[in-house]
Amino acid sequence: MKRVLLLATGGTIASREGEHGLAPGLAAEGLLRHLPELREHYLVDTRDILDLDSSNIQAEEWQTIAHAVWQALGRYDGVVITHGTDTMAYTASVLSYMLQDLDRPVVLTGSQMPVGRLLSDARANLATAFSAVDLGLPGVMVAFDHRLIRGCRAVKVRTMAFEAFESVNAPYLAQVYADGLRPDPAALRPAAPGRSPRLADRLCTDVFLLKLIPGTNPDIFDKLTELNVRGVVLETFGVGGLHFVRRDLLPKLEQLTRRGVAVVACSQCLYETSDFSLYEVGQRLLDCGVIPARDMTTEAAVTKLMWALGQTKDPQRVREIFDTDYAGEVTLPG
Ligand code: ASP
Repeated sequence: MKRVLLLATGGTIASREGEHGLAPGLAAEGLLRHLPELREHYLVDTRDILDLDSSNIQAEEWQTIAHAVWQALGRYDGVVITHGTDTMAYTASVLSYMLQDLDRPVVLTGSQMPVGRLLSDARANLATAFSAVDLGLPGVMVAFDHRLIRGCRAVKVRTMAFEAFESVNAPYLAQVYADGLRPDPAALRPAAPGRSPRLADRLCTDVFLLKLIPGTNPDIFDKLTELNVRGVVLETFGVGGLHFVRRDLLPKLEQLTRRGVAVVACSQCLYETSDFSLYEVGQRLLDCGVIPARDMTTEAAVTKLMWALGQTKDPQRVREIFDTDYAGEVTLPG
């Protein structure tokens, strides 16, 4: 039997009705009591590391989770982490950078409905997460609605439906069929030879996400400087553009990058890649020293910037980090 560590962090899956609405309250052993069969198939240990709605999960909690996983790696065939769905894509992305070159599965799961309710998706999601340990694909992933998603490609796209997550710009790693959890060979990533697992846990929280709207006031970039922001992810229009007519964003943006702030640009569109070489409104942005995020999700780009600025203060090195695919988060040219 495979040895699995179940790490509980809270979320709807562990929630109960309280005075102010749903709030986490159930420990990992309590979760397992709703799916006793798991202990017939796996040797399960449990640890309660957090008890939070995932809206409250931030960089400090990511470090707590990463350390708990890191300590478990040598002793378990895989780690399952229960987590609220709202920020699960951020946690899955950042763990993909903090825990590198993993040789076993680290699987995040949760549910849209508390485990104690008859119609809950929690039991199926937990079963899928544990089956992912059997499958043995290395890396951080999300198990949800009978599918496995590479952690740094997961996005929460629905607030209520059980198909809450999608794998964006990458195939699903595996799906549950009548014969079990079946991996997609096209989705697998060859392991980098000679690399062993590594914990890189430093993060920079002075990062801001700015979604442009038509008419964004260019002074916003001055305000970001006043806030001592070290990194900005800019969600730009379409394949990659911003306005330079009337409210010209370019001069202030250039000032920001000249001051050493790392600015990463991605698209507001969920699917497909950004390409700033296509239009004048994109090329001018690249001329300002902005780093292209290519086909990364916003969640993967924001957390990669937090992670990159945790490793280095040098904007050139941040650019190199964005030119490197660590966990399948980006499609690089050639
Ligand atoms: N608000 C909850 C959370 O993210 C939602 C969920 O888990 O589905 O913790």
